[in-house]
Amino acid sequence: MEIKNHERLHADDRNLCRLAMSELGDVYSDLGLSTEEFDLLDTPKRSFTVHFPVRMDSGKVKMYVGYRVQYNDARGPAKGGIRFHPELTLDDVRDLSFLMTLKCAVVNIPFGGSKGGVVVNPKELSRNELEKITRGYIRAIEEYIGPFKDIPAPDVYTDEKIMVWILDEFERLKGEHVPAVVTGKPIELGGSRARSYSTSLGGIYVLEEAMKKMGMEKSKVKIAVQGFGNVGENAARILHEKEYNVIAVSDSKGGIIKDDGLYIPAVIKHKDETGSVVDFPGSRNITNKELLTCECDILIPAALSDQLNRDNAKDVKAKLVLELANAPTTREADDIFFDKNIMLIPDILANAGGVVVSYFEWSQNLNNDYWEEEKVLEKLKRIMITAFNDVHLLCEDQKCRLRRSAYSLALKRILHAEKLRGNL
Ligand code: NAD
Repeated sequence: MEIKNHERLHADDRNLCRLAMSELGDVYSDLGLSTEEFDLLDTPKRSFTVHFPVRMDSGKVKMYVGYRVQYNDARGPAKGGIRFHPELTLDDVRDLSFLMTLKCAVVNIPFGGSKGGVVVNPKELSRNELEKITRGYIRAIEEYIGPFKDIPAPDVYTDEKIMVWILDEFERLKGEHVPAVVTGKPIELGGSRARSYSTSLGGIYVLEEAMKKMGMEKSKVKIAVQGFGNVGENAARILHEKEYNVIAVSDSKGGIIKDDGLYIPAVIKHKDETGSVVDFPGSRNITNKELLTCECDILIPAALSDQLNRDNAKDVKAKLVLELANAPTTREADDIFFDKNIMLIPDILANAGGVVVSYFEWSQNLNNDYWEEEKVLEKLKRIMITAFNDVHLLCEDQKCRLRRSAYSLALKRILHAEKLRGNL
């Protein structure tokens, strides 16, 4: 992934938090929470800042700041990524850890939520310095993480290589193998099959369930995908393999459309060779703006936040929107879609497939039993479909939008776990 995109992802996540917090305000009042319930949900269980020294390549020692917030662990050990970013704040980490708590609860996996990170710009570091910072951070938080406490994962600016350093440092400190302390590892060190495309596939399982509810037939639907990175490209590829008609795709340079369907493997090859999907032979170039309002039945935003907004929402032709990106729809657009009877599957549910496969990785590590790809996919499908149906049922009961019912369901599950524990 390009470094540029990482900067963008951090900004997008801030938008996601802003939107989520405003949605939550409404959900709190819908649920009629007591003061005790509100206070419990409003406060992280544990939030800390660490300072640790790192000897840089220059020979000088520099102090770094790291954070970790374990928002809630009533439903299981906390789970959440580690982000390296120069503008990271404790508030960002806190909001993101709450979102992780909600995401794990909405898909009903036995985890709470957390997030962490180091205030650093990885672009300014050598590989050696990056490794030392990772190890220094893990030494600083070592006693608070572990397979039954809090399990880190990759996030903005952190990857598989960094997860291996985390694993190695933690195991050195403990003097034993503890693969379940971190997820996002390579297969050779206990990673799970299907992780690289789990977000996209999880979303597609949910989409297929939503199509059933809407009486949409696979052979008749036209799909447009915005974004052709990890999530968008995998989504387009999987949909094509499942014989869906993907008519339009786009990336930061622009989009392409072909009314009778794009041959996605050739689009991927074209993008690999030219750096963009634009000018794909046999298709027509369109702008990103046009892609979002093109004649299609299903729209999948898989690029940036705030793409569907009050300027374009009324022109959207799709009947179904699957939010694979974080926060692609503003609140105004959300209202417009609701009025237009467009079903919108919210990000918190639509893109939760990645954390579900992280849960599988943890589970395989604990049992020392590694699954074939088919088993991972079958279990992912079951969890995503059940989550969608749970959210949909609540949505019908409450006559609200899916986003509202997803948040309500997650909060209810967290509060129920707290009550069972006697904390409420
Ligand atoms: P990525 O950086 O790999 O890809 C982003 C894509 O969007 C690129 O193809 C880029 O060219 C394109 N893009 C940028 N600006 C655009 C524009 N104006 N119009 C159209 N396309 C544009 O990122 P990703 O990992 O695929 O993540 C995409 C979204 O999904 C983000 O919102 C991210 O937070 C969210 N998400 C990702 C994961 C994951 O597992 N990677 C999990 C959950 C949520």
